[in-house]
Amino acid sequence: MSMRRLVIGIRGRVQGVGFRPHVFSLAKTLNLTGFVRNCGTGVILEIQGKNVHAFLEALPHNLPPLARIDACDVTESACVTDEACFTILHSLQEQANTIIAPDTAPCDACLQELFDPESRYFQYPFLNCTHCGPRLTITADLPYDRAQTAMRHFPLCEACHTEYHHPENRRYHAQPIACEACGPELECDIEAIVSALKIGKIVALKGPGGYQLLCDARNASAVNTLRARKQREQKPFAVMVENIEAAACFAEVNVTAQALLESRARPIVLLKKRRPERLCASLAPHLSHLGIMLPATPLHHLLFKVMGMKNAALVVTSANISGNPLIIEDETAKGALSGIADIIISHNRDILTRVDDSVVTIINNAPVLIRRARGFVPERIALPMRIPGTLALGGHLKNTFCITRDDEAFVSQHIGSLTNRETIAFFHESIDYWKRLLNADIERVACDWHPDFYTSRLAQSFNLPVTPVQHHHAHLAAVAAEHGLNERTLGLALDGYGYGREGEAWGGELFNLEATRFERIGHFEPLMLPGGERAAREPWRMGAAVLHQLNLNARITTQFAHLPQAALLASHLKQATKMPRTSSCGRLFDAASALTGVCLMSQYEGQAAMQLESLVATPTVLPNGWCIKNNRFSMLEVFRELLHLNPVEGAGLFHGTLIAGLSEWLLMNAQKHQLNTILLSGGCFLNKVLTEGLYGRLTQSGLQVYLPERLPPNDGGLSLGQAFIAGAGNVSGHAGANH
Ligand code: ZN
Ligand code: ZN
Ligand code: FE
Repeated sequence: MSMRRLVIGIRGRVQGVGFRPHVFSLAKTLNLTGFVRNCGTGVILEIQGKNVHAFLEALPHNLPPLARIDACDVTESACVTDEACFTILHSLQEQANTIIAPDTAPCDACLQELFDPESRYFQYPFLNCTHCGPRLTITADLPYDRAQTAMRHFPLCEACHTEYHHPENRRYHAQPIACEACGPELECDIEAIVSALKIGKIVALKGPGGYQLLCDARNASAVNTLRARKQREQKPFAVMVENIEAAACFAEVNVTAQALLESRARPIVLLKKRRPERLCASLAPHLSHLGIMLPATPLHHLLFKVMGMKNAALVVTSANISGNPLIIEDETAKGALSGIADIIISHNRDILTRVDDSVVTIINNAPVLIRRARGFVPERIALPMRIPGTLALGGHLKNTFCITRDDEAFVSQHIGSLTNRETIAFFHESIDYWKRLLNADIERVACDWHPDFYTSRLAQSFNLPVTPVQHHHAHLAAVAAEHGLNERTLGLALDGYGYGREGEAWGGELFNLEATRFERIGHFEPLMLPGGERAAREPWRMGAAVLHQLNLNARITTQFAHLPQAALLASHLKQATKMPRTSSCGRLFDAASALTGVCLMSQYEGQAAMQLESLVATPTVLPNGWCIKNNRFSMLEVFRELLHLNPVEGAGLFHGTLIAGLSEWLLMNAQKHQLNTILLSGGCFLNKVLTEGLYGRLTQSGLQVYLPERLPPNDGGLSLGQAFIAGAGNVSGHAGANH
């Protein structure tokens, strides 16, 4: 073998994750000389020796846990003389074009030190290393250097300094490195927090991405007090447990669930309850599933250790005033949380970027995101092509926004509903932050068709071309974008609400999709929408609308006898000639939930549908329970039957019939339009029974079915679809979005 020199440029997640030490030790093992350094696009290295080929082969293997190579560019170069060794050089001061890793739960090596009395990190709640710890939440700007993070206020002690500079140490260039001697401090003893929790107190604790409220999940009076003080009567709480054994004590944990619970992202995972009497009933009332998570920070681990109880469970919920963003500032916490928490515990490491806990459910034995935030953000999504830099402003509720850079899309953390000043401020703050972090050139803006949304008005203010995108088109385009699909497809959106072509309320839509255009080829038969937006909060109104449409108007007052407005609504329906209508699938679930007596008034989004789904034992089919006319899909007939069934039978019949009807409708259209690929998206696909049932039937019939995987099927995924349509619609060779 002869001597060669290679110049290698690497793109991907290669900064701040221990990539250079990996390269360093590999080069040393193979007797290579040269250097490695961080640069604006990732890492650049030059290697020289007889084993350069072996280096290229070995490089992708045994990468540090957080590293990822997206592209590797190799060119031959002339050998240099007088190069004695391999070195790690200082970063080039270029514009940053790379990205940091998401926040990551403590690694095994760190946990070992946390509980090792001999370690200098023993019981230190802020320990971390190159493979784990906070990232996005403590970063103000790129390049990712300690001076740009919340750690800039903590000069390294001698021991930390040594570890930080030693290429063979696990903490080599670990920017958040800290120890008891030099790092951040918790405001009080862990023992004090634990004793408060043990006697049923509510504790506000500065968590990884914002303040969290904690209480003993097995103490009914503590949970009820928290509900009362947070004014959150029914919306489920998630619980944190120490380990998999404890999780399995409260919920069904299979291999997929275990992998998700233990994943570095540490999301809340919705799992089927097991032995519900072990936890108090008010954690997730009337729901079959419970959100469970494992400790996400060293501090969480210490809490459980000090509690020292087998199967301890803590409610962990974001500490915000309902509807507002998570609190991250210590001063705000002291003011706003004083009426909710008995004690408020802070520490002096600032949270620079607010990031909620992520929430995941399991469908078809694979994870599906409900809320994408800590642990997943800022993971990029690879697009099938390069598109002009686009800022997509997302939806009105469950907002996220998306910024594209070449062929990569970055979807922001969950922002929330843009219905109050505080969340809108967080939205603006985050757009500025992400624009800075990504250093992206924005050439276009995308928003929803709805003319009155805050985002649609904002879109006009950038002085850039604006592409408005239909809500359900965006849902489906997001699926196409993440799967890199470019062919003609069928798309079914089952959703709550989206602005239609004439301003109607859409939400059960069948599209023909090609390039960045859509054609609405079918939809759910519209139902009357009594009270407009109010109907979504009061499912009984949809129940009344269905009764009216079944010519059972007289039954409205008996069915909903205890609701004072029932008689008024019944007569209103009778006289109304111009009542707004909706083709929403979500509202159909509301009607079914109300008419089976499961949920008449809802306190949180999706409550009626979630409670109905929770009751399903076996989906059953009413053979003529649906009807397809002029490619309009109607479920009216099944409702006639529901009126005679108990809630469990009703829930099973509604789900089973919907699945059977939709499959027939979709297969019919697939055949008619000669399409073999179908995209499914929209909030209703968080319904496990519906999604698994429909997916099973369609794939068994030979269709290729695509669902959202990297983003939520709900409105949290809209911004990617908007960006893709606006961006790809303006790449030459692609047709624009139609409006
Ligand atoms: Zn670690
Ligand atoms: Zn130190
Ligand atoms: Fe939606």
